[in-house]
Amino acid sequence: MNQQIYINGEYFAKDDAKISVYDHGLLYGDGIFEGMRIYSGKVFRLHQHLLRLWESAAAISLQIPMDLEKLTRDVKEAVARNGLQDGYIRLIVTRGAGALGLDPFRCSNAQVIIIVDKITLYPDELYQNGLELVTASTIRNHPAALSPRIKSLNYLNNVLAKMEGLKAGCKEALMLNHLGQVAECTGDNVFVVRGGQLLTPPKEAGILEGITRNAVIELATEAGIEAIEMPLTRHDLFVADECFLTGSAAEVIPVVILDGRTIGNGKPGPITQQLNDAFRELVQK
Ligand code: PMP
Repeated sequence: MNQQIYINGEYFAKDDAKISVYDHGLLYGDGIFEGMRIYSGKVFRLHQHLLRLWESAAAISLQIPMDLEKLTRDVKEAVARNGLQDGYIRLIVTRGAGALGLDPFRCSNAQVIIIVDKITLYPDELYQNGLELVTASTIRNHPAALSPRIKSLNYLNNVLAKMEGLKAGCKEALMLNHLGQVAECTGDNVFVVRGGQLLTPPKEAGILEGITRNAVIELATEAGIEAIEMPLTRHDLFVADECFLTGSAAEVIPVVILDGRTIGNGKPGPITQQLNDAFRELVQK
């Protein structure tokens, strides 16, 4: 793959794609991003991803240096240039280069970066047999400190929880919020199925409102499965019939163990499978 990386409208080979070490995206995690999927040459829910990017920008008072129509065109162009039919897009907007102090208002040029790459999904075996999770002791950022609804470059909260998961031999970790409720995983939203209903934490639980999450809620509703956003605790996962995660990279992946305890019958459940099939169909539309 001859990778072409977009920086502010220009394209560079991977080794030549560089930004300033004074960029506040690097110095302070001051910036935002989106992770999107390309299926059969088309970006899945590009518009929704861009709306979320603009929302993140507004939340941190960052001016994206172009309008939504132009960025839409540029993302599509970057996909075409990289010639990938199926892949992943990382779209980043940094605060830009400034002085060494925190002051974001002294940063002149927000940097827009588009990386198109192949995607490494979880191994197939995990989609067949389900994922094991542990609950991280690192809680999700308090919404009044740094709202999880902002998809910011400041992902240390998630990285620390991910580390706990990996050290426990799990590829994902469950994160609780400051109230002890289930929030989400380090890079995925969480759902449970109980008595034929689909339950997932609401935005107020301190989560990123996933594009995949919202697509799955729509698919469930269309299929006559009631989807309810409500606060959940670990208890709800322990007594669930089924559990699964959603994310642009992960898509829909079953969860069968939490903290060493089997969920449901320890196998991916029928509603998870049904929604996974519906999702795979949707992304090809
Ligand atoms: N939560 C977090 C913390 C994430 O980083 C992501 C994206 N990887 C998600 C949830 C899922 O969001 P989406 O479906 O939009 O990819």
